Amino acid sequence: MKLIFEYEEETTEHVPDVDDNKERERTGKEAAAEDITIELPKDLMRKELPLPNVSEITVVRHYTNISRMNFGVDLGFYPLGSCTMKYNPKINEDMASLDGFKDLHPLSHESCIQGSLQLMWELEQDLTKITGMDAFSLQPAAGAQGELLGVMIAKAYFKQKNEKRKKIIIPDSAHGTNAATATMCKFETITIPSDSRGNMDIYKFKEVLEDDVALVMLTNPNTLGLFEENILEISDLAHTNGTLMYCDGANMNALFGITRPTDQGFDMIHLNLHKSFSTPHGGGGPGAGVLGVKSFLAEYLPLPRIIKEQDNKFFLDYTKQKSVGKVKYSYGNFGMLVRAYCYIKSCGTNIRKVSEHAILNANYLLNLLKDDYELPYNRRCTHEFVLSSRKFGEKSALNIAKRLLDYGFHPPTIYFPLIVREALMIEPTETESKETLDRFAAALKSIANEIKENPEIVKGAPYTKLVGRLDEVAAARKPNLRWIAFSQSDGKEDSEKKLYVKK
Ligand SMILES: *Cc1c(COP(=O)(O)O)cnc(C)c1O
Repeated sequence: MKLIFEYEEETTEHVPDVDDNKERERTGKEAAAEDITIELPKDLMRKELPLPNVSEITVVRHYTNISRMNFGVDLGFYPLGSCTMKYNPKINEDMASLDGFKDLHPLSHESCIQGSLQLMWELEQDLTKITGMDAFSLQPAAGAQGELLGVMIAKAYFKQKNEKRKKIIIPDSAHGTNAATATMCKFETITIPSDSRGNMDIYKFKEVLEDDVALVMLTNPNTLGLFEENILEISDLAHTNGTLMYCDGANMNALFGITRPTDQGFDMIHLNLHKSFSTPHGGGGPGAGVLGVKSFLAEYLPLPRIIKEQDNKFFLDYTKQKSVGKVKYSYGNFGMLVRAYCYIKSCGTNIRKVSEHAILNANYLLNLLKDDYELPYNRRCTHEFVLSSRKFGEKSALNIAKRLLDYGFHPPTIYFPLIVREALMIEPTETESKETLDRFAAALKSIANEIKENPEIVKGAPYTKLVGRLDEVAAARKPNLRWIAFSQSDGKEDSEKKLYVKK
């Protein structure tokens, strides 16, 4: 058995040659006595599989080693901007793995699941307090699905009012899902450029706000990590025009207890429980992109709704009035709801501190780094900030990201938002210590020096990882998703067996 990764020539330079493939390639000699034949029914027999003949511990080591090639927030700093890779407290996991939660059947009768219904109902209440909204649906499985639900609700709302509104206004700093969602729901999108302070250009906004605009989709704070300074004026103008205000709340980690989306004039918001509320994410795992709305939109939320009766009993209400239907089976990704609930209750009235510390950490790091790099929108940031490495040339952000791997850090988000050239979007989150932030800043400063003194080092990175520089386009277009046993290999070059390594 051979790992399908191929080393790049240079990367093996300082790596000692320890060949443990011999053991994995072992095959045992047939030891069965020849005259005892136990017949197996023909249809139960299968073709012999090309599996290596190795002991259990070899298999365990093999898979444990593979698992250690991955990077996660439990291993190190993960400042992936916009993704809010904060620490996931282990108590959340303990609570989510209680038998009553983990073995819950989605079709259980409501009389048997009162505790779970109560948990979801209370979670909805806590989220309404944090956002100011009046009602929540916990169904959507991701931020993108929360957006989809929000736009579907806007569509149903205007249809009910018999208004033909076909446009959605979105600033150019927005996450790609905003425009994708609008398009999926057959709206036209109008893109508004950002002004020199990183706000949506208010003059351009006024020009396009006509009476066929259904929705303004804004991210606040936006993807530059900046608070939208004209938000009150934008909301007023929109509402006077009969237009709804949708908040992409993926950055809500910056605002807990400081300001509520409804204070800013929003009518709807999705929250990413897997970002702001500490439930684990990455690798396409389950998420929760819950949607909150003001009372005049509550009837449009998906079914069932969780209702609390006078005698503290909970039930599921399937009465369809104006509901847009269902967006996910069951009540959403329930395990994530338990974790988020546990997180909110653990923070309690201190939840404002989460955001205060996230903002403090981000501004601290910003100030350590803005002179070595560039800060295109030079304002105090909220929970994240966007640097540019354009002074180091084309592709420098990519090279810096790869070089950071050698320093033991997960890279920040790069090339997003699209309005910043060579963007490095850094979100430290509140759960990192000052020492970690200092080490990270030192690494980025050191890389800036390397670029000046010996740029080839940075261009060839990473050197310490199992795979070197990948051909990312090929890897994305022709992903190699199949495991191939070495013993099937005829020893010839077979491009399918390789990860895409740029030569
Ligand atoms: C992450 C994110 C989204 C999409 O959320 P998913 O849960 O990944 O679908 C939308 N907008 C912004 C600003 C985000 O950061």
